[in-house]
Amino acid sequence: MKQQILVIGAGFGGVWSALSAARLLDMHNRNDVEITLLAPQAELRIRPRFYETDVHKMFAPLDALFDSVGVHFIKGTAERIDELTKTVGYRDEDGRQGTLAYDRLVLAAGSQLARPTVPGLAVHAFDVDQIEAAVRLENHLKSLKNRPASDARNTVVVAGGGFTGIETGTEMPARLQSVLGDDQNIRIIIIDRAPQIGATMGDGIRPSIIEASEHLGIEWVVNASVAAIDANGVTLADGRRIQSHTVIWTVGFRANPLTEHLNSVRDGQGRLHVDVNLKVLGQEHIYAAGDVAYAATDDLGNFAAMSCQHAISLGRHAGNNVVADLLGVAPIPYRQPKYVTCLDLGVWGAVYTEGWDRQLKLVKEPAKELKTQINTQWIYPPAADRTTALAAADPMIPVA
Ligand SMILES: Cc1cc2nc3c(=O)[nH]c(=O)nc-3n(C[C@H](O)[C@H](O)[C@H](O)COP(=O)(O)OP(=O)(O)OC[C@H]3O[C@@H](n4cnc5c(N)ncnc54)[C@H](O)[C@@H]3O)c2cc1C
Repeated sequence: MKQQILVIGAGFGGVWSALSAARLLDMHNRNDVEITLLAPQAELRIRPRFYETDVHKMFAPLDALFDSVGVHFIKGTAERIDELTKTVGYRDEDGRQGTLAYDRLVLAAGSQLARPTVPGLAVHAFDVDQIEAAVRLENHLKSLKNRPASDARNTVVVAGGGFTGIETGTEMPARLQSVLGDDQNIRIIIIDRAPQIGATMGDGIRPSIIEASEHLGIEWVVNASVAAIDANGVTLADGRRIQSHTVIWTVGFRANPLTEHLNSVRDGQGRLHVDVNLKVLGQEHIYAAGDVAYAATDDLGNFAAMSCQHAISLGRHAGNNVVADLLGVAPIPYRQPKYVTCLDLGVWGAVYTEGWDRQLKLVKEPAKELKTQINTQWIYPPAADRTTALAAADPMIPVA
């Protein structure tokens, strides 16, 4: 009977875990270990592009890639992890329940938009968290042209002025204009709790956010929070009212609730604390990668962000290290000292920084070119060719 490595999730963390596990098995000429990946779709969905148009195209199929490296794919959704029996309960697309046994598990089920109990949020707000939600937003934007012109129709409110809110908001003038035409009085309003524009992005980036917002005509309402959402707009905590048919919620992300099935320590976003080899603290057989992992990137106190650049590298290390654990060879400790930020700012351009203190390196067109390259090439999976795919999964390849 073959030993079983089970990976949950086909995002950046999961795909690179599976490829990297296959790579180390290949290097040791081992065919007595099976890698299985469980996810609702054999697709790498490109979440960082969900604020763009044509969002239904933002995925890469994975069947041929998995076939090329011998990863067995199971279409289903994990519902339960039992660390004592080393099994995962799941449900397939027809609703049937099944159980998978593992010798080593990599949990890479990603994150989800946090949805607090703001009245009306669940019914009336849009978001760009998952592809289905982003498609729903896109269809809604297209349908606005069929409504009579009004302030509410012509106004998009973005709740949250962090990374996702800024990228979504700065894309909206062009998207709304392409639907409604150039002659309409369009308003894009970003609402944020912080006292400054782009407060969470740091001083290196803020001037670019301010300049881009002015250029694009984006209004910021700072020191404010959304108290309620309805079909015609938002009410702020101080009673102010903004009429809008399009409210996009972008505030906060939480690790997948599967993390709560494990007896371990979690951070404020629900991420599992892991050791330097990405094994979940308190667990013997379970590793974590991507947005579910709270992993130190260096010895200076920095931790992986919920980001692709970290998920890819975490995946390559976790996959390598579950195999190393099974084979009894040395693991590769996770280290990712370089951190970069590339923030899209709509037709104004983009801004690119390096370091955790976000030192400005590129602005406007050169940064936009880099962002386009990252989003259309770098974060896509490798070709479905065994040699190419395994070589690309080397944990020592720097991501940024
Ligand atoms: C709008 C937006 C913009 C972003 N922009 C950037 C950016 O510019 N740069 C950047 O680095 N990051 C960006 N991010 C963050 C980035 O997308 C995530 O950090 C990254 O996708 C995390 O990878 P992951 O593999 O952990 O999770 P995901 O990519 O979310 O993948 C999770 C996988 O797990 C599967 N899954 C979920 N639940 C289950 C279950 N119960 N059973 C089985 N499978 C399951 C999902 O189907 C999916 O295949 C952005 C995110 C959003 C939403």
